[in-house]
Amino acid sequence: MEINCVVCGKEKLDKDTIGINKKILSNEISDFYCLNCFAEYLGCTEEDLLEKIEEFKEEGCTLFR
Ligand SMILES: [Zn+2]
Repeated sequence: MEINCVVCGKEKLDKDTIGINKKILSNEISDFYCLNCFAEYLGCTEEDLLEKIEEFKEEGCTLFR
């Protein structure tokens, strides 16, 4: 399944990006943001999100498998 950013239309969001969307927003969402737009939406930086992704992976979160 191809998922595009709902804001800028960036195509084929990767699994990590989709995972962090679900983790922070909800498992039920159907609109996804690319890292750039998601950082803007949350008022943080892309770097912060990448760090979060790494943290969640280390915790063994299944959304990132
Ligand atoms: Zn975007």
